[in-house]
Amino acid sequence: MAESNRYDVAIIGGGPAGYVGAIRASQLGLSACVIEKDKPGGVCLNMGCIPSKALIHEAESFMGLEHLESLGVKVDLSSFDYSKVYAKSRKAANTLSKGVNFLLKKNKVDLIVGTGRLSAPNRIMVDDDKSIEARQILVATGSRPVELKPFPFDGTYVLSSDGALMLKALPSSLIILGGGVIGCEFAHIMNAFGVKVTIVEMLDRILPMEDADASEVLRRAFKKRGVDMHTGTRAISMAKTDAGVALTVEKNGTQSALTAEKMLVVVGRRPNTENLGLEELGIFLDKGFIRVGDFHETNVKGVYAAGDVTASPLLAHVASKEAEIAVEAMAGLNPQPVVAPDEIPSAVYTDPQVASFGLTEAKAEETGIPYKTAAFPYRGAGKSVAIEKPEGIVKIVFDPETHEILGAQVAGTEATEIIHELLLAKTAELLPEDIANMIHAHPTISESVMEAARAAEGWAIHA
Ligand code: FAD
Repeated sequence: MAESNRYDVAIIGGGPAGYVGAIRASQLGLSACVIEKDKPGGVCLNMGCIPSKALIHEAESFMGLEHLESLGVKVDLSSFDYSKVYAKSRKAANTLSKGVNFLLKKNKVDLIVGTGRLSAPNRIMVDDDKSIEARQILVATGSRPVELKPFPFDGTYVLSSDGALMLKALPSSLIILGGGVIGCEFAHIMNAFGVKVTIVEMLDRILPMEDADASEVLRRAFKKRGVDMHTGTRAISMAKTDAGVALTVEKNGTQSALTAEKMLVVVGRRPNTENLGLEELGIFLDKGFIRVGDFHETNVKGVYAAGDVTASPLLAHVASKEAEIAVEAMAGLNPQPVVAPDEIPSAVYTDPQVASFGLTEAKAEETGIPYKTAAFPYRGAGKSVAIEKPEGIVKIVFDPETHEILGAQVAGTEATEIIHELLLAKTAELLPEDIANMIHAHPTISESVMEAARAAEGWAIHA
């Protein structure tokens, strides 16, 4: 236990970076505190991963009703009340936030409620009136939605992801500015509940960071479901009308107007690095993100940073891993110095889902890395047909000489779960051949992974 207000490790921010780092510190025998101005669990548990996945779960239950109708079951939707969906998502968030509180206590981590600010490399002021001393400090203050000047958030017509998660009633129509992961997940949720959804994306396809074939699987599914997608389209200005918002967009030099009751702007996130005393201590920032070196230490000795506040992929599992690395280094262990970028899974919880890691074909082309790909369509696996989810693809990018797995992309049902077989193979330095020869239970979606691996070896059976 720490003496009063003195710790081995003090962490500002109680999100997936901060709370996981604190628990890991305690496991390693360090006294630790977390300074959090809001609820433990950060964006992920309170305004991100968890409430959005709770909404997606309810949205998918709702989509299942259509399926029941195909069996002759008539469902009366007249009493449907979206505020109950909202309430369930808040319940999931609150349960898990309380769970973090419990875990911190169990691990003897002090949770200090308040706003932290560095006043020296080993001192944090909380709410300007309480001083915390620490041998080492981890900054894990996370990020917030990017607000675009022409489209300021007002909580009524123009929403951030926070605003969309807190809706207690559905709009009749929604424009989503940004066709990335968060935009597509909200498109999935809202479309499932019958909201007319329009996506506006500046780049030439939705999920532009994902493999083109994988994002095409989602585009086709969205099109079938009636999601209106405007890609290669720039939002220019908006006006508020009696009916909601009128958005002026431009594609190939031609302007047009889109209208909806509300607009959701999800075009990225900005690091929370202001008013933390970073500049005063001479800590380097790059475009607002804290610059870190090996073990996530900043240029000021003893001050570390992890999670969304640094320029790595803005994902909860990355935030937690980075904090573990930082804290293990503080404890004198010798962890891997940074998270290996090729081993970070990304997951999009749409229907179908999209998941991936490592090199894509496009990136290999761009960088000139020699590669080959092998792919297998979901419909070749009996299970996908049996459960009426035949749309999808498993793709493996591998070294043409050694067959080392360089990356993989999966689009289709359960993609966010089955990606881990391929990722485990990569991290364990297994080859497609090893997956190809491993017996996979029948019928499973994972058989598509086995068949893609067999395709890499030239002998897919069900292709
Ligand atoms: P945060 O979670 O942002 O936590 C930072 C904490 O620091 C906050 O609690 C904040 O209150 C606190 N804080 C800030 N400044 C101070 C201060 N000065 N003093 C005290 N406390 C302070 N990621 C995934 O991996 N999977 C997903 O499915 C996923 N879905 C998402 C869905 C949405 C809608 C959004 C918005 C994000 C999603 N993310 C997802 C991203 C994920 O939420 C973040 O990557 C993750 O929360 C980052 O963790 P963090 O600890 O770095 O920061």
